[in-house]
Amino acid sequence: MKTRIFTYLECPCGHRGALIETIDAGVFSNGWHKAWLRGLTHTGTYDGEDRLFAEMKPGCPACDRSPGPDDVVGRSELRETGEVLRKKSESEASEATPGVGC
Ligand SMILES: [Zn+2]
Repeated sequence: MKTRIFTYLECPCGHRGALIETIDAGVFSNGWHKAWLRGLTHTGTYDGEDRLFAEMKPGCPACDRSPGPDDVVGRSELRETGEVLRKKSESEASEATPGVGC
């Protein structure tokens, strides 16, 4: 099962971007992990305790600052099961209801 984590950033200059991580927590994965940036550059200079920021080094394309964990404005998680969505069977819909009588 994959989990996608969006970490939204807002630079002090007002520019917005996001760090996106995909983590595969399935049985056969060894903590498979992938991360990329949206609306940001890789030219940041963050060097601190936050593993994600230290790895991604997000930079702002508008003002060249390096947004850090303090600039996180939101976070959301999305689960992806990787399964094809199953359609609910419609067998219950066609149940005949005979008239009541004696
Ligand atoms: Zn900026």
